[in-house]
Amino acid sequence: MAVSRFLFADQLGPHFDDGGPLLMVEAVGVLGRHPYHRAKAHLILSALRHRVRELGDRVELLHAEHYRDVLAGRDLEAVDPTSWGARALVRELGARVLPSRGFVTSEDEFAAWAQGRPPSRLVMDQFYRHVRTSTGLLMRGPDPEGGRFNFDHDNRRPPPKGASGLGLPDPYRPVEDDIDEQVRADLDRLEAEGRIRLIGQDGPRRFAATRAEALTALADFVETRLGDFGPFEDASLLGDDAMAHSRLSVPLNLGLLHPREVIDAVVAAYHAGEAPLQSVEAVVRQIMGWRDWVWHLYWHLGEDYVRRSNHLDAQTPLPREFLELDGRTVRARCLSHVLDEVGRTGYAHHIQRLMILGNWALQRGYRPAELTEWFTNAFVDGTPWVMPANVVGMSQHADGGIVATKPYASGGAYISKMSDYCGSCTFNPKKRLGEDACPFTAGYWAFLDRVEPRIRGNHRMQQPLAGLRRLVDRDAVVEQERTRTQW
Ligand SMILES: Cc1cc2nc3c(=O)[nH]c(=O)nc-3n(C[C@H](O)[C@H](O)[C@H](O)COP(=O)(O)OP(=O)(O)OC[C@H]3O[C@@H](n4cnc5c(N)ncnc54)[C@H](O)[C@@H]3O)c2cc1C
Ligand code: SF4
Repeated sequence: MAVSRFLFADQLGPHFDDGGPLLMVEAVGVLGRHPYHRAKAHLILSALRHRVRELGDRVELLHAEHYRDVLAGRDLEAVDPTSWGARALVRELGARVLPSRGFVTSEDEFAAWAQGRPPSRLVMDQFYRHVRTSTGLLMRGPDPEGGRFNFDHDNRRPPPKGASGLGLPDPYRPVEDDIDEQVRADLDRLEAEGRIRLIGQDGPRRFAATRAEALTALADFVETRLGDFGPFEDASLLGDDAMAHSRLSVPLNLGLLHPREVIDAVVAAYHAGEAPLQSVEAVVRQIMGWRDWVWHLYWHLGEDYVRRSNHLDAQTPLPREFLELDGRTVRARCLSHVLDEVGRTGYAHHIQRLMILGNWALQRGYRPAELTEWFTNAFVDGTPWVMPANVVGMSQHADGGIVATKPYASGGAYISKMSDYCGSCTFNPKKRLGEDACPFTAGYWAFLDRVEPRIRGNHRMQQPLAGLRRLVDRDAVVEQERTRTQW
């Protein structure tokens, strides 16, 4: 019998298919392992079933509780999968394993670049420059297009004053079909039977689950949002959940789109004079820089990176509002809005993840490993490989400075400047003491007070720590936040 290529549910695009016989497995036990957001479980099943329908008799679809139940004893090959667990599985099954795909740079290329560099010298920006230079993307000979590798400095615009949104057309949304209807019914049944546990609300599918939808979403992004992507990358508005973000992480992480396709499309728009360099460079950096970077770090930092990382000794369990994605009783407008959005859709854009959810968790000392699992389960684009560097490293500083050189903590003033959240909030971003003291502003000082002994040696934290020492009401603020019940 011919060797079959076993495709995982995040290997769905043409770049995982070399033309031979294919095998896919719908394993309910995998869905039942964690309390996933309903929209995420829906996307995975919908994408897998759509791919099976497209491939017709080229693919054998098996149903099982666990992969092993139906794969043991088969003659298999696999493109190296995307989690430690899945890699162990394909090896245990004796599959022929091909190098991983779906990223701009190969694992060998990263290994060669990282060789001899201690963890403290693994800097994303340097890796990004290396990849720009080696691919020649956005380069003019040896020099970066526009004279700089990074246009972030031009990209920190607050949202337009008084606007409720950026005024862009609604982002592309797929139209559901019979497969989605069946997926919804199956999820209802599995949940009723107690075989899976779901969080978040049901609703029409918002993200691409087929190759055709992914290409349409990409074209729509380039046409309607790319130009504003750079300038408003860090801004948030209550009336605009998409802002100028691409919402392409789902099809990228399902393997429906290759990252080079996105990069080539935005670079082509730049060369055609249809998009500014500051936006195009920003997209290229997010994908070829950050996305590849966190992928390689997942392997490079080791299987126990999440478990062993708690540099700031964060020991608070996640509260009910996070676990149930319920912002209704949260008074902090920024936090309640983002929690509700995640509950409704399974998505929030980058700055909401980093500066609202991550910042809050950092200040309140939520356990990094628990938070990583929460993000992975609650977000439609959450995967085992994408979360560790983003959550443990970037947003929680729990690795002590490998991914980010300082904790991403900020008070209400930053949130107030970069969003319209504070205008309708019961708290006041300028106040750190009293009934209406902003829990982010006061929380920022209480956080610095708590972690001061552990970050004292960080030269980038000297200025904030000097501010903390000058705070006349430091003890009162710390006590207020220690006993805070309303947030
Ligand atoms: C706490 C936290 C949790 C995150 N969780 C996820 C996650 O579950 N899945 C996920 O894919 N990304 C995650 N990210 C990274 C980033 O926030 C999302 O990729 C992005 O918000 C997805 O929305 P978008 O497609 O509209 O992105 P855009 O803003 O349009 O960016 C374009 C693309 O760049 C890539 N990208 C940008 N930043 C990153 C990054 N830091 N890491 C990896 N890829 C990046 C994504 O593929 C994204 O689709 C997280 C970041 C933080 C700080
Ligand atoms: S005042 Fe504070 S809690 Fe309220 S929205 Fe602004 S930052 Fe958030």
